[in-house]
Amino acid sequence: MLLVFFVSFSEIELYAQRPEVRDANISAMVTEVSSNNLEQLVKKLVSFQTRHTLSDTLSKTTGIGAARTWIKSEFEKYSSASGGRLQVSYDTFTQPADGRRILSPVTLKNVIAILPGTDPNDKRIIMVSGHYDSRVTDVMNVKDFAPGANDDASGTAAVMEMCRIMSKQKFSATLIFVAMVGEEQGLYGATNLAKRAKEEGWNVHLLLNNDIVGNSYGMETDIKDNKSVRVFSEGVSPVETPAQAAARQSAGTDNDGKARQAARYIKEVAERYVDQLEVKLIYRRDRFLRGGDHTPFSQQGFAAVRITEMNEDFNRQHQDVRTENGFKFGDLPEYIDYNYLQKVTRMNLSVMSNLGLSAQEPENVIVQTSGLTNKTALKWDAPKGKKPVGYYVLMRETTSPFWERKFFVKETSATLAYSKDNFYFGVQSVDEDGHESLVITPKPGR
Ligand SMILES: [Zn+2]
Repeated sequence: MLLVFFVSFSEIELYAQRPEVRDANISAMVTEVSSNNLEQLVKKLVSFQTRHTLSDTLSKTTGIGAARTWIKSEFEKYSSASGGRLQVSYDTFTQPADGRRILSPVTLKNVIAILPGTDPNDKRIIMVSGHYDSRVTDVMNVKDFAPGANDDASGTAAVMEMCRIMSKQKFSATLIFVAMVGEEQGLYGATNLAKRAKEEGWNVHLLLNNDIVGNSYGMETDIKDNKSVRVFSEGVSPVETPAQAAARQSAGTDNDGKARQAARYIKEVAERYVDQLEVKLIYRRDRFLRGGDHTPFSQQGFAAVRITEMNEDFNRQHQDVRTENGFKFGDLPEYIDYNYLQKVTRMNLSVMSNLGLSAQEPENVIVQTSGLTNKTALKWDAPKGKKPVGYYVLMRETTSPFWERKFFVKETSATLAYSKDNFYFGVQSVDEDGHESLVITPKPGR
């Protein structure tokens, strides 16, 4: 639990401790997430028999073509309910052969729904994704039943249920809901979309990638845990320049990259809005030696994290559906914990809403280095667009994974009687309803 202090003027005064406040509008959306809807979405995705990226595109009832047509038509229903504000399209591209998992060039389609932001001065884009393709044991098997209920109909269903609820509301930032293709063949849908985002100058502030989010049972360990979820984040951007690396090493901010700051934000906001949910921050890019659709976005310089269930069941993932010695293998919908999937969807929704409604983050945040001092002086500029009511200056011990103290200031500067040698700091905007921006790591300056 973070302790919150109010600060006035540029020196610190202890004012009061602030209770956790939920925005009633966000709480109403969180409540609207339905485990029954999620179950129907997962079962419908499974009904296409296989959603293998290279499977049939002509049938109306089976294969990846039927699956993407249905996902798009669902997004279009939500668009009608939103008065047409939600913009639905295919992100279509030709994937060349890779000599490995794509044997000849193929046309692939991500399915995208864009909810434009209401503030023209707010250029932020917040994305949520799951991948709709599936596979069995042989990654080139395009024919056999590949239900992919958990991997990753669960993430796709989460994205669709969020889109249904959130597209009826208005957000300052632009929200993008994506069902990715080609994940199992080599992250191709995400790679294409991340490149497009970079080329078209999308200001992606955060990608929440949901992959394998519906199972609450750990194979072998026999752990049943419906209240923990993992968020994977990398500390250092894979595209930092030598100059940025030198600045990071000098300031010791290895643990304060964009994705990691976002992960701390996700934990704080999600635990505020979702009861009986503990967000476990895993400080690495992904599970050991494995990958996902967030990484192509990191590789284009965007903040991107992976959300995955706490305990995995490998008798379900990437398995031919079969029975051996009386044991049923396969990624089937009866093994999904829909109340758990509901919590994970609520977590995503609360984070995306809080960020989408917030003022933008402070600009040019610097920690002043003009003289040697045992205090820490920070200053910044107000964001463009909606004005925040103030800012939180966040502080933690160098050994702490999480922010430990939070100081509220109305001005665009703060001097704390704590040394920058011994603590890490961050600054975020907060509006009158308590929505916080992402946290900015200060750069040294004068
Ligand atoms: Zn997956």
